[in-house]
Amino acid sequence: MNIETKAVHAGDRKKNPDAPGAFVPSSTPIYTATTYLYEDTAKLDRVLGREEPGFCYGRYDNPTRTGLEELLTELESGASSQVMSSGMMAIHVALLAALTDRRKSVLAANALYGATTTLLTQVLEPLGVAVNFVDVCDLAALEQKIAETKPGCIVMETISNPLLRVGDLDRIAELARAAGAALLVDNTFASPLLVRPMEHGANLVVESLTKFLAGHGDVLGGVVITDEAHADVVRTLSRTLGPVLSPFESFLTMRGIKTLAVRVERQCANACRIATWLGSHPRVARVHYLADPKHPDAAVIRRLLPEGLYGALVPFEIKDAGKPDVFRFMDKLKLIVCGTSLADVHSLMLYPAIASHRDISPKQRQRVGISDGLVRLCAGIEAVDDIIADLDQALSLT
Ligand code: PLP
Repeated sequence: MNIETKAVHAGDRKKNPDAPGAFVPSSTPIYTATTYLYEDTAKLDRVLGREEPGFCYGRYDNPTRTGLEELLTELESGASSQVMSSGMMAIHVALLAALTDRRKSVLAANALYGATTTLLTQVLEPLGVAVNFVDVCDLAALEQKIAETKPGCIVMETISNPLLRVGDLDRIAELARAAGAALLVDNTFASPLLVRPMEHGANLVVESLTKFLAGHGDVLGGVVITDEAHADVVRTLSRTLGPVLSPFESFLTMRGIKTLAVRVERQCANACRIATWLGSHPRVARVHYLADPKHPDAAVIRRLLPEGLYGALVPFEIKDAGKPDVFRFMDKLKLIVCGTSLADVHSLMLYPAIASHRDISPKQRQRVGISDGLVRLCAGIEAVDDIIADLDQALSLT
């Protein structure tokens, strides 16, 4: 089945053989119970021992959550998934899983979501994990750094935050495999509609459910999708640490995913029109957009992304703008929501210097090309003319 069809059907319609009439709910219900009962203790023993399918206790599993996990496993072409309370929790668990039984050394892309960099440098490094950074779009530099640092895990984003760099996943997966390192990919900016990193050789994929997957600005969540080899360790970490997503949020996310394809297609179409319009605006110094033929990773993008689906993100630099100018611009926006997120049905504007990349030093921001004039627009599903009109009036007053 195609991904658009899987998004609507996978994970749903479980038969309950013990219910009167053995009915099948057409969509997955919210199960709030924390414990599940069986006709005898021997059966409970088999379910607890995972010899038989079933549910025992909410920290281990839950029917609503399992429905969502089955759906995400299908969408991302993985072997197994665990959904968690946030994207950051998912990244943390995935890193722990990747480093179990491997060298405690991480080689990370130097363009990462700010909190992921913070997690690496302020949580894992003080615990004794060696952390090094490299430009994963430069394969020669990556190969050299792998040889130097002998990582147990390589971490990168499919489409980097916020400057939309795209590494060659297939080649990076080959290099990781040859070095005995796990490849962990954050697929948040792409969503499985655009790229499925497991199909390119990733071992672990994480996504913030908060973004494209749930899509409506009302769920905080994350998911770790794994290959066969990492399924057990991620499940054990989840069952032991208890970072699980609530049944209600699992339900909302499943509901959101049913419209993933139509939402993302519309968002990509809107982003394309907006990028073209911004490109000729006199107050705009530079637009970062994946369909730009001059994009530094244009060849990889053409190979990796489906024709016409170049993402919803349009970061751009306002000409000669410092913090006060950007604040003025954002305060003038009337339709576009200025919020610290992306990929909702409504258009969102974020200022990386004070939000996603606030916790990294100004020097480090400069090193990865995040200027004080850079803002990050994520197109929503509104009429594109209304989004452009809002940008136009705010830019004209900046
Ligand atoms: N990864 C990326 C690329 C993100 O942009 C974010 C949040 O913005 C996260 C991970 C973290 O997700 P969450 O906020 O759900 O913890």
